[in-house]
Amino acid sequence: MTSLGPVADLSRARILVTNDDGIAAPGIRVLERIARGLSRDVWTVAPETQQSAVSHSLTIRRPLRVQRLAPRRFAVDGTPTDCVLVGVHEVLGGRGPDLVLSGINMGANLGEDIGYSGTVAAAMEACLLGHRAIAISLDLPRNGSVATRPRWDTCSHYLPGILRTLAGLSWPEATLMNVNVPDLPHGAVSGIRVAHQGRRKQGLRLEKRADPEGRPYWWILDYSKEEAQPRGSDLSAINQGAIAVTPVTIDVTARGALPELRAAFG
Ligand code: MN
Repeated sequence: MTSLGPVADLSRARILVTNDDGIAAPGIRVLERIARGLSRDVWTVAPETQQSAVSHSLTIRRPLRVQRLAPRRFAVDGTPTDCVLVGVHEVLGGRGPDLVLSGINMGANLGEDIGYSGTVAAAMEACLLGHRAIAISLDLPRNGSVATRPRWDTCSHYLPGILRTLAGLSWPEATLMNVNVPDLPHGAVSGIRVAHQGRRKQGLRLEKRADPEGRPYWWILDYSKEEAQPRGSDLSAINQGAIAVTPVTIDVTARGALPELRAAFG
């Protein structure tokens, strides 16, 4: 199995920044600033509008439009995956990115969130194109309030070091990194944990409500509460106030099930 070698010189590395919260989201500004602290060659190609939970969607039934907002800064009227394709094939032209950064997402992408996340999907797309990619998300308070202040300072404090370390490593093929930052001031972060993808015991909830005219509608709600998690998972790392770094592979084959299936069909 081939791997991606370390980034030789990060200060000269070409970095492509994207997200799923849209180009106007505060998290992408923070990430662009962090990226520019690492290299001078930073490009942004991000969705025009909020694209959270679109997962790995592709736009294939209508034209995609690209808008240049500033030097090296572009908006696409599509999904995070569309943005990576447009970024790599069109905007960056000949020289592909050495590093693709997706985020910083407003809200953690832990456990089964990975399956819904547009933030992680953008990194996955970059990975499929043969590039090293990191998805970055910031946990928010779970009280349902959108008015609380995200801890961008914690991201700015820790991410440069984490990104440097990850860029300096060889990566296995078809692997992206999923980084989650806890909702804590940087002094209260308990460390950086390499974690596996966790799983919640209960799935998403669906609530039935009535509109002002009495007609029913449904609203998908976030997980009810953080449960106790087995040690070593991304969920448990965040519950314990640590930053979680999870390597994620593209191959989702359940290898353990292969022998029995082969026997049954062989
Ligand atoms: Mn999002």
